[in-house]
Amino acid sequence: MSRIAFIGLGNMGGPMAANLLKAGHALRVFDLVQSAVDTAVAAGASLSASAADAVSDAEIVISMLPASRHVEALYLGDAGLLAAIPDGALVVDCSTIAPASAKKVAQAATGRGLAMLDAPVSGGTAGAAAGTLTFIVGGDAAVLDIARPVLEAMGKNIFHVGASGAGQVAKLCNNMALGVIMAVTGEALALGVAHGLDAGVLSQMMAVSTGRSWATEVCNPWPGVLPNAPASRGYTGGFGNDLMLKDLGLVTEAAVGVGASIPLGELARNLYALNSKAGNGELDFSSVIRLMSAVQDDPGKPRAPVV
Ligand code: NAD
Repeated sequence: MSRIAFIGLGNMGGPMAANLLKAGHALRVFDLVQSAVDTAVAAGASLSASAADAVSDAEIVISMLPASRHVEALYLGDAGLLAAIPDGALVVDCSTIAPASAKKVAQAATGRGLAMLDAPVSGGTAGAAAGTLTFIVGGDAAVLDIARPVLEAMGKNIFHVGASGAGQVAKLCNNMALGVIMAVTGEALALGVAHGLDAGVLSQMMAVSTGRSWATEVCNPWPGVLPNAPASRGYTGGFGNDLMLKDLGLVTEAAVGVGASIPLGELARNLYALNSKAGNGELDFSSVIRLMSAVQDDPGKPRAPVV
């Protein structure tokens, strides 16, 4: 069992930390939001006065923060956390950030004599709670072997995809596909409902047909179709629209960097930007369906056929 410092106890980090506690690891936690810390402490974690305090005797430091600027601000600079982490400790950042930021922080960690992995995750809040996340890891394979037992307490699939930063590139590829698929699934359901179809029946059919995806089967965007999906609880507690927007911005930067053409990814980025402007930025990204249908006023209710 390891002494772990866990920084960032939000929608993902909270349940990930809970699974590490269940597996018997000793956790010291820190978040800027007191209620998130209180939940982790109630589950058995130790309270810390600051991030530096949390890492002071850690063997492994795990961070799960919103974006590049949070990760760089946490680790780098004169007051950065790298200076406070004990020699020989391993640093694992699970946030989804720019590949260039991941490399920059990993290089600084190496300069300080610390090993670091970028290990963004896929699987959503349900996967974080169930301990079934997919870890997409960039960095040294030998370092991953050391981290593997700890990652296995939070996930069931671990992919080593390359050197430092490669985990972030692979994660961005996945999220570009996810963003496009969620938007088009919303479009398909809205079209069917506008023709008087029942969103649940349509989703069940699609889930065993060629239009099937995580968006139809796990995170269905139509309210009431899946009781555990964010759409059925007012689009709360999932993967925020503005986090998807952030990821698609990183996708665009990554595409520009290598001259890649991503017409659907760019279109999806614009859809999530419009959804944010419509006031849905804090909601789960499946709320993008609101651009196509007034689902919030009419949850799951079939309308009269128009043909
Ligand atoms: P979140 O906003 O719910 O949680 C982030 C947490 O970090 C917050 O509790 C915030 O207070 C804390 N934080 C920010 N700066 C901090 C600092 N300096 N010190 C300590 N705590 C700090 O976000 P989330 O949904 O948990 O996502 C976290 C990361 O995981 C993001 O990069 C996101 O893109 C990625 N991700 C999210 C999902 C999902 O379904 N939510 C899925 C896969 C990946």
